[in-house]
Amino acid sequence: MTADTGLTHSETSIQLNHSHNANVRGVLDAFGLKAGSTVSGVAYGGGFTSAPTGETLETHDPTTGEVLAYVKTAGHPDVSRVAAEAAKAFERWRLVPPPQRGEIVRRLSDAFRRRKEDLALLISLENGKILSEARGEVQEVIDICDLAVGQSRQLFGRVIASERRDHQLIEQWHPLGVVGIISAFNFPVAVPGWGWALALVCGDTIVWKPSSLTPLVSIAVQQIFHEVTGGTEAEGAFSLAIGRGGVVGEALLSDTRLPLIQATGSCGLGERVSVALAKRSGRAILELGGNNAVVVMADADLNLAIWAVVFGAVGTAGQRCTTTRRLILHRPIHEPFLERLIAAYRTVRIGDPLDEKTLMGPLISLDAVSEYEHGLAEIQRQGGEIIYGGKVLVDGGGYFVEPTIVRSKADMPICREEVFAPILHVFAVDTLEEAIEINNAVPQGLSSALFTTNLSTTERWLSSTGSDCGIANVNAGTSGAEIGGAFGGEKATGGGRQAGSDAWKGYMRRQTCTINYGEDLPFAQGVRFEAEQATRKRDGS
Ligand code: NAD
Repeated sequence: MTADTGLTHSETSIQLNHSHNANVRGVLDAFGLKAGSTVSGVAYGGGFTSAPTGETLETHDPTTGEVLAYVKTAGHPDVSRVAAEAAKAFERWRLVPPPQRGEIVRRLSDAFRRRKEDLALLISLENGKILSEARGEVQEVIDICDLAVGQSRQLFGRVIASERRDHQLIEQWHPLGVVGIISAFNFPVAVPGWGWALALVCGDTIVWKPSSLTPLVSIAVQQIFHEVTGGTEAEGAFSLAIGRGGVVGEALLSDTRLPLIQATGSCGLGERVSVALAKRSGRAILELGGNNAVVVMADADLNLAIWAVVFGAVGTAGQRCTTTRRLILHRPIHEPFLERLIAAYRTVRIGDPLDEKTLMGPLISLDAVSEYEHGLAEIQRQGGEIIYGGKVLVDGGGYFVEPTIVRSKADMPICREEVFAPILHVFAVDTLEEAIEINNAVPQGLSSALFTTNLSTTERWLSSTGSDCGIANVNAGTSGAEIGGAFGGEKATGGGRQAGSDAWKGYMRRQTCTINYGEDLPFAQGVRFEAEQATRKRDGS
C-alpha cells in the first residue's frame, strides 16, 4: 500500500542490525533454549512435563520472520492435570502466613532483578518491543513484587459499628483459590505479573495461559518461578499451560476449580470470558482493549504534548492497550501541531528492537501487518486521509510498518474500533466540551489525556462530566501507567482493576462476620420473633 502523504513524503527505512541473528543464539541461551529446538510449554508441581499432549506451535522472530523454536502445547488432559495440581498446591499454600508468602515474592523480585537484562532481551526478541520498553516491562514486575511484599502485611479487613448491643461486626479476607491468568502478547511479563504477585501473597495459586505468540518469554518466566519456589512451601504454586485460546483458554473458562479468571486481551475475548464465567458463577477480572485519546488545547505546553503523543502513538509500535489512537486538537493549534508532529515522526528510527538506537520495532505477526493494511484501507474508504506513513516496510522478512497519521472524522465507524497498530486519527475541535464528547463517544474506556495549562479546563476534564475512562491524565500521555494506582478501564474495556491501590481485594474472598458477645439474641432491623425468645426464657437458657 502506498500512502498519498499530502503534507509530507515518507523517507522511512528499516535499520536492521546485521548482527541480529548472532544475538538470537545468546538471548535464547540465557534460558537454556536453543534456536530451532522443541520445548515443553506445560509445567506444574514445580517442573516442566516432558510430553504435553497438544499440538506443536512455532514461535517467530518478528524482526526476521524466522522460526525461533517449537513449543509443545497443552492438550485437554494436560490442562485438567495442571488445574488439579494447582488446586492441590492451594490446599497447602493458603495455610502459609501472608508475610511468609510475601517473603517468597521478595525472592521473586530479587530474581527478576538478577535476570532483568536476560529477560528484557528475550522479550525484545520474541515480542519485538524495543529494549528500553522491554527493560521497563521487567522493572514493572519488580515494582509490583515490591508492592505485593508490603501488601502481604496489610491484607486487612475492618471493624464496622454494629447496630446491635454487645455485637461485633467485622470484615475479613481469605485466600480465594486457583487463579487462571490468560494474558496477551503485548505485555507478556508485566501484566500477568500484576496478577500473580498479588494473588500469591493473597494465598492463591496460579494457572497461567500466556499468548501463543510469546511462548518462550513465558517459559523463561516459569523457569524463574521454579528456581525461586523449588523446595519452599510455594513449590507448585505456579503452573503453565501454553496453547491456543480455543483449547487451553476455553478449558480454563469452564473449569470450576478456578474461581477467578484474570483475562487480558481484546474486547471480543472479554465477551467470551464474561459469558463463560457467568454460566458457572465464576469471577472475572477483565483488562481489555482501549481506544485512547489525547486532547491538546491551545493553551497547552506543546513541547510536552508532542512527545507524549509520539510516545503514546508510536511506542511499542502502537501495540499497547493504552496506545494513543485518537488525537483531538483545539482548532487554533491544529495545523502547527500536526506539522511538528510529522517532523517528530520523521525522527523515529524503525528497525531491530535489540539495537539500542531503535525507537520502533516490528509488529508481532503477519496477521498484525494485515490488520494494519485492512485498517488503513477501511479508513480511506470511510473518508480518512493519510497524512504521514501508511506503508508496510518489506525488508528481510520482518513485520515492519510505518507509523501512520490520518486526518479522520470522529463519526467514522472505524474510529470506534481498536486497530492494534500504530495508526493515529486526528480531529479538530472548537471547544473542550466537543473534545470530551469525542473522547467519550467510543465503546472502550481505558486511558485518556488532556494537555492544558488552564485550571478550570483541568477540573472540568477530571469532573464527573469529563473523561469517562478508567485513566484520566493531565499533561501526561495515555501510555505508561505506574503500578501504584489501580489499572483498568470502563465500558468495553471490562471494568477490571489490577496492580496497586486496593486491587488485591480482587484475589481474595471477603467474609462478613457477626460476633455476639452478649446474653441476648437481638435481630437486625429490630425484627421480633417472639416464639423463639419465649422458648429461650422458659428454658432458662
Ligand atoms: P487476544 O484477545 O487475541 O488474546 C489474548 C489472550 O486470550 C491470548 O492468550 C489468547 O490465546 C486468549 N484467548 C483467545 N481466545 C480465547 C478463548 N476463546 N478463550 C480463552 N482464551 C482465549 O489479544 P492479543 O492480541 O494477545 O492482545 C492485544 C489485545 O489485548 C488488545 O486488544 C489490547 O488492548 C489488549 N490488552 C489490554 C490490556 C489491559 O490492561 N486493558 C493490556 C494488554 C493488552
